[in-house]
Amino acid sequence: MKIYKAAIIGLGPSGLAVNKILYGDSPDDVIAFENEDINKRDNYFGFWLTEWMKPFENIIEKKWHQWTIGNKNINIIHTSSDKPYCVISFKKWKDFCLETNSKLEIKNKKVAKYFPIKNYFKVITDDNTEYYAEKIYDSRSTKEKKGELLQHFYGINITVPDNTFNENELTLMYFTGEKNLLHFMYILPFSHNKALVESTVFSKDIFNNSWYREKIYKYLNQKNIVEFKETSVEKGIIPMFIAAEKNPSNPNIFNIGIRGGACKPSTGYAFAFLIKQIQLLKYSKKNSVNIHKYLERKMDKIFINFLKNNYEDGRSFINLASNLNGNEFQSFMMGYSNLFTKFKIIKSMPKLQFIKELFK
Ligand SMILES: Cc1cc2nc3c(=O)[nH]c(=O)nc-3n(C[C@H](O)[C@H](O)[C@H](O)COP(=O)(O)OP(=O)(O)OC[C@H]3O[C@@H](n4cnc5c(N)ncnc54)[C@H](O)[C@@H]3O)c2cc1C
Repeated sequence: MKIYKAAIIGLGPSGLAVNKILYGDSPDDVIAFENEDINKRDNYFGFWLTEWMKPFENIIEKKWHQWTIGNKNINIIHTSSDKPYCVISFKKWKDFCLETNSKLEIKNKKVAKYFPIKNYFKVITDDNTEYYAEKIYDSRSTKEKKGELLQHFYGINITVPDNTFNENELTLMYFTGEKNLLHFMYILPFSHNKALVESTVFSKDIFNNSWYREKIYKYLNQKNIVEFKETSVEKGIIPMFIAAEKNPSNPNIFNIGIRGGACKPSTGYAFAFLIKQIQLLKYSKKNSVNIHKYLERKMDKIFINFLKNNYEDGRSFINLASNLNGNEFQSFMMGYSNLFTKFKIIKSMPKLQFIKELFK
């Protein structure tokens, strides 16, 4: 009977990070279970460059030092010389994380359950095969919950005629002013003739692909982009509620990624945080670490409740962006804003509704 050093459940970005960051330099035998074909997964993960993300600079696809937030009437431009917005593709992250000294065995199987026996675990897959490991890293998570807000999106990678896009400026949020719905476009111009154009909604229900596509076409048309070729599509759902599972009492079970509370619910950003989580776990004696600080979590909760209970057309985000400079904005998005910036953020928000949410 072979007992692996660790079993990773799910090879999304967090499972992959465990293989690279925790076991990459060791000769250990590790086993990973993934029920989807991860070679077919292709999407970009955006984040602002922080100290903890610098070790991965080599695999960054592109950096933008300028980003905009606005609507048809206003356009706030933020710049940052040393904290640019970056993207890493899932494919690059996967290849980077699979290149290690450890011996990783990947099983294309679904884990049905696991439980401790003696000082190790028995993992049972849905074909009833048993595997054994000393530690469990579990990344299975609930992405949807009835009555809770979701960030859902659909994006198309397009190629267009030369010099269509300003490749130095990213559109972080362009609010389209839909009736009773928070919807914005997110544009990543990889070059003057290539971009990801994404339609994003914050709401409790998700839509058919055709809904987002229609918004993308409308936006492109407004920008006089009528000639384009689709190269690929990415879509997803990110929970805007605390999707973290309870911390396991067994010290050798680690909840990772979204399951381990990596997602910042008010923004849907999770990638850089799940990496920070695995980096912190490497030097922790515990099976869980605090990724988001108490005050950040509290502010997030108030903001989510505000979004849940009030119609918001993007004005709060634009107001917030207009009161902060690029570095302050990114420090807030990456969860390390100082007290002065936090004060500016609170000052930017609709007072009455926020005070109500604070006391709920
Ligand atoms: C298309 C897309 C774009 C995103 N863009 C950004 C971004 O720009 N910036 C950002 O910060 N965040 C982004 N996110 C949010 C977040 O970073 C991702 O959701 C990320 O994938 C979370 O990683 P994870 O490892 O926690 O979970 P997952 O990626 O969901 O990985 C879990 C894996 O476990 C597998 N699995 C589930 N159950 C089982 C089982 N029983 N047995 C075996 N395997 C199982 C799943 O198939 C999956 O591959 C994006 C999400 C999506 C979907």
